[in-house]
Amino acid sequence: MFTQDKKFTPFADKVWLATPTMHGDELKWMTDAYNKNWMSTVGENINEVERLVAKKIGCKYAVALATGTAALHLAMKLAGIKRGDKVFCSDMTFAATLNPVVYEGGVPVFIDTERDTWNTDPKALEKAFELYPEVRYIVVANLYGTPGKMDELRAVADRHGAVIIEDAAESYGATYKGKQTGTFGDIGIISFNGNKIITGSAGGMLLTDDINQANKARKWSTQSRENAPWYQHEELGYNYRMSNVIAGVIRGQLPYLEEHIAKKKAIYERYKAGFKGLPVSMNPYDGKNSEPIFWLSCMIIDERAMCKHVRGDRDACYVPEHGKSCPTEILGTLAKYNAEGRPIWKPMHLQPIFRNNPFVTVDGNGRGTTNAYIAGCGIDVGADIFNRGLCLPSDIKMTADEQDKIIEIIRACFD
Ligand SMILES: *Cc1c(COP(=O)(O)O)cnc(C)c1O
Repeated sequence: MFTQDKKFTPFADKVWLATPTMHGDELKWMTDAYNKNWMSTVGENINEVERLVAKKIGCKYAVALATGTAALHLAMKLAGIKRGDKVFCSDMTFAATLNPVVYEGGVPVFIDTERDTWNTDPKALEKAFELYPEVRYIVVANLYGTPGKMDELRAVADRHGAVIIEDAAESYGATYKGKQTGTFGDIGIISFNGNKIITGSAGGMLLTDDINQANKARKWSTQSRENAPWYQHEELGYNYRMSNVIAGVIRGQLPYLEEHIAKKKAIYERYKAGFKGLPVSMNPYDGKNSEPIFWLSCMIIDERAMCKHVRGDRDACYVPEHGKSCPTEILGTLAKYNAEGRPIWKPMHLQPIFRNNPFVTVDGNGRGTTNAYIAGCGIDVGADIFNRGLCLPSDIKMTADEQDKIIEIIRACFD
């Protein structure tokens, strides 16, 4: 009603959330695989990307796999998750973080989010051990490229003898106290999915310092063949190995990681400056201890500047109001002008598929009702961020002019 007052011309070329950016070497290494007929799940590109990633991350072994989800699945198996085991999981993350828990028959117990980095709340995690002292597995993600509170999470895990699996799919290249994410878990993973900071179009890696784990992951990922003249199988196998062609793309991308991070950071800073004076803030991080990669820039609207806004399972509606806005209005307005934003990853405890799984908030309350309003405490942190936040166009091919226009369009939503 009010945003329509200001007219912008739609972007001729769509401005995206996050898309692949190629540089040239990708084709060179793919072609190299082609010319040598190494169009397979073995080859130089695979060996080389495993070596380069292990070196960059600072872990002993990186195992190249078909996807980040495959890496997570093998990580769950290496950790020893079995049917019926409860597993403490990040709540506000992409479902791939914890779907593999369910592949193994485990039961995700969702841990609420903290406000400082939008990641797993160590205090809620401690609370979860009070409620479920038998649990031995924790899966944590670093949301949108921002490291979580790694020392605090580790301290809680150690106190209870639990293993951490770190999902660094969105944070490859980010550091916490000078160490790369992906190294804080007992097992880590990264992803080369098409929207990630570096991509192979697909691909993932399992990260570990334990040679036995690395060997197991390699074996399982190639159908668990035993060392025998025929196909001999003593364990269940998977077809999870990375292709040498995909590895060629990643090999070409790896030298551009720092350049991509610098561009993502500049986008975040430009939004931050551009939103001065608006009742919003950017997704937060611990600037003292961590260097995020700013994979996605996000904003969250101050409570007082939220117009009336409700979401059902499939759609949403809102009441426009002067001086106020909401994610549905902003995302709809961006879409109208041919720009792609996205809601915050909807927390897992709000997902119908996980409606019967436990959910633990910092006060030990948690799931009482499916809409996660907690008597006397209002809404849980994850639901609140989902309600007021959104992901902004963060594509590194977006120009400064385009971004300035995005900022103006969003500013107009608050007119
Ligand atoms: C992208 C992503 C994954 C999955 O990676 P794929 O390579 O697409 O399987 C896992 N966890 C998080 C948090 C992600 O963003």
